[in-house]
Amino acid sequence: MDSFLRYARTHLDEMIESIRELVECESPSDDPASLKRFADLFAVHVSDIARVKTYSGGHLRCEFTLPGAKKDGQVLALGHSDTVWPMGTLKTMPFRQKSGRLWGPGVLDMKAGLVFFVFAMRALRELDVPVPHRVVLQVNSDEEVGSGSSRALTEEAARRSVAVLVLEPGTGLEGKLKTSRKGVGDYTIRVRGKAAHAGLDFTQGANAIVEMARQLERVAGFTRLERGITVSPGVIRGGTRSNVVPPECSAEVDVRVVRAADERYLARCFASLKVFDKRCVVEVTGGVNRPPMERAGGRRLFGLARTLAAELGIELEESSSGGGSDGNFTAALGVPTLDGLGAVGEGAHAPHESILIRRIADRTALLAKLVAGRLGRPPQAGGPPHKLH
Ligand SMILES: [Zn+2]
Repeated sequence: MDSFLRYARTHLDEMIESIRELVECESPSDDPASLKRFADLFAVHVSDIARVKTYSGGHLRCEFTLPGAKKDGQVLALGHSDTVWPMGTLKTMPFRQKSGRLWGPGVLDMKAGLVFFVFAMRALRELDVPVPHRVVLQVNSDEEVGSGSSRALTEEAARRSVAVLVLEPGTGLEGKLKTSRKGVGDYTIRVRGKAAHAGLDFTQGANAIVEMARQLERVAGFTRLERGITVSPGVIRGGTRSNVVPPECSAEVDVRVVRAADERYLARCFASLKVFDKRCVVEVTGGVNRPPMERAGGRRLFGLARTLAAELGIELEESSSGGGSDGNFTAALGVPTLDGLGAVGEGAHAPHESILIRRIADRTALLAKLVAGRLGRPPQAGGPPHKLH
């Protein structure tokens, strides 16, 4: 049996215990105190094998001490500590082990992935496998809310790296890796009209809601499904009382693109909006804030991962995702990025969030094998697959 796989299977109980501890330390994106508590706890989990640095905002950088003398370049692993679950969710959704799965808020997205990576590093150390690169794990505390404060940190670390491994969950119960992700953004549309009594002064009013409704019909029409461009008005607010002609209305619109060039298409579309009712004013702000992760960047890495997974008896597939991650930023810089290397399960952001226990060991082993491999260089043409163990 593969020695990494054996290591992970031998340490399964310990890994489950670590996952439990992280899940039971709740860490919603909007709660700085709990994020700090989580960062402190995670630092304790890795402090014996890594140098840990904490940044304002609660982001962590862990540089691992690994076997092998000469370190050539850097490999960056990316994770996040925050979850979409509010404080107190554990009361209704406690951590539990049942039906071959681990359940709980954030277990799949993505606390288990963090534990997999730490145990992969432990395996490399205990099996004394030389690692050709410096290995850094960055754990961001604001991924679920757009990574505003961690983005610069992620990009800086990526620029120094030969490859980026993202510990987000895989796709579906097969755990497919993610080699492309859509770019994500949002636009805000504000309409200003004119208030008036809906009965006494009807013609004096300029109805901002009616104007918005007409605008949104145009906006929804910017969707181009065949090109993977979607435009979805998601939130609308306006009006005060039914007998007042509403003076204001605003809408938030989610946009997704497959290609970076399509950001410009959307920018042009939104800039072209013109008022129907000349007494109203329409204002548009926003844009794409996570550039798309295009497939070409991670293709070679995926090929390597597939070869290594085959040595573990796993047939690895790739997928593309409509959702964004911090991997979007690193891929957009041209750094080869492979995403979806974390846990296998289902129900991210949903009450049935859970991971498959039987896939913990092979994911951990795959991470160890990837890190031990030469991620920065193309494999030799025509040679046999690179066997590590
Ligand atoms: Zn995530």
